[in-house]
Amino acid sequence: MTFVIDLRWRKHHRPVGTGWDYRPKGIKPSSAVIHTTNGNRGSSFEAEADYLEASSGVGAHYLVGQRGQIAEILPPIYRAWHAGAAKDDWINSRSIGIECHHAVGEAWTHEQRAALAWLCQRLMADWSIVLGAIETHRFVALPAGRKPDPSDWTDRSFYDWRAALIAPVQPAGTYPVALELKVAWQSSGGLWHPSQFAPGYALTPFFRHPDGHQYQLFERSGARFTPQGTIEWLFTEEVERLKQWWRTHP
Ligand SMILES: [Zn+2]
Repeated sequence: MTFVIDLRWRKHHRPVGTGWDYRPKGIKPSSAVIHTTNGNRGSSFEAEADYLEASSGVGAHYLVGQRGQIAEILPPIYRAWHAGAAKDDWINSRSIGIECHHAVGEAWTHEQRAALAWLCQRLMADWSIVLGAIETHRFVALPAGRKPDPSDWTDRSFYDWRAALIAPVQPAGTYPVALELKVAWQSSGGLWHPSQFAPGYALTPFFRHPDGHQYQLFERSGARFTPQGTIEWLFTEEVERLKQWWRTHP
């Protein structure tokens, strides 16, 4: 199945402060929140997209339809107003908001789940978002219990769907994951998925680069270890550039 991202409803042509604004300086999206629109049954995808585009009070980055349509309402470099009060890793400043067109009580379609998976895999690759950072609105909303969505999608089914996202995106490498990353994972409250620490998951060993930092690279992401001991997660282009360097300096 092939999917297309429809750009007809983009919101950032409207004044800042109408359901969108800017992320804090230096903050890129590192997580995603899955919602359902929970509007009237029988509403059209176009009407839901019109609403998200025109709303002065709420926003989202994407709308996914029941026939597999995908509209980008707001480029992820901007901040959408979708999560409300949320756990820190999923506040609007750090997250990408994805609305699924769904009214309470409706059945989910295979096409919608497949389109959502395709979109999430793209976002994981483009923004180096780890599997565990893709979450339901109900899990991230504060106080606990404030939000039910995505509606009619149980946690068990959602996490099974999510686990299947990683296989095609991040095939296993050859090297073990650095101990430093495992420690960071343990202190991150489970933001990273345990499968990412399987033996042989990393594409490269932990190596030192002439820029003074140490790196470990994965299929679509990488970690930079600064001399100050902090770990920064790397984005697509930077990972590709470092992979090139590593291949020629084994
Ligand atoms: Zn929601």
